[in-house]
Amino acid sequence: MGKPAAERKMAIYTPIHLRAEANRLPCSAPGCCLPRYSVSRYCGQHARADRAYGHPLGKRLLPRHYAAERREVARFIRRNREDQSIRTALAFFQRWLELAASGDTDVPAPAQIARLAKNQVSALEMLCEAGAVWAYSERNQRALIDDERLTCALGNSISHLAPLTAIRKYEFRGKTLYRYSRVPKAERMEIGETIRRTLGVLLQAVTEAIEPRPITTRRVIPLHQFKLMICHPTIQ
Ligand SMILES: [Zn+2]
Repeated sequence: MGKPAAERKMAIYTPIHLRAEANRLPCSAPGCCLPRYSVSRYCGQHARADRAYGHPLGKRLLPRHYAAERREVARFIRRNREDQSIRTALAFFQRWLELAASGDTDVPAPAQIARLAKNQVSALEMLCEAGAVWAYSERNQRALIDDERLTCALGNSISHLAPLTAIRKYEFRGKTLYRYSRVPKAERMEIGETIRRTLGVLLQAVTEAIEPRPITTRRVIPLHQFKLMICHPTIQ
């Protein structure tokens, strides 16, 4: 069990500057002994990495890093579009987009998925993106580790398929600039977790199917075996 209710309540109502002052342990990231930042478990740099990439040792993943995987996955999906599991996966993304666009807030990360739908992001784009990030992680296991970092990278890449919402417009040195709303980490992780839980097996099968040489350490999974595993409690 966690802390008793009274103590939890105290933790919530203690002003942040007092909690920050009491937060005197060193950073929790492996090998780091810098002081913690504010109320975070980590120092400033590791706290930023945790927020952006889902892990204090996470690194930035740009679309150009997995451009090759994206091309290969897109080609594979185009060729196998009539395959039952690919069709089910596309229908899953389509339903997710439609439910979020219609204002259903029970689906994972509804605000972000509704933004994608509003910007005409397709189910096919979402599947290609997720497949490409998955394949990149499989091929570059040290650059994108298969833990919260992959979950977050899936959420980041999907949520960046459409432009962010501009929340403020301002002038700077004669130029018009915009400030964009950030996608909260919790929503990016929710997208990543949903994809992992519902499509992980399929994405692994796609990754193995596009591999020019068979991966000897893993059993190759035929696509058709997993068509029934694609289900999610709120997207049906
Ligand atoms: Zn640190």
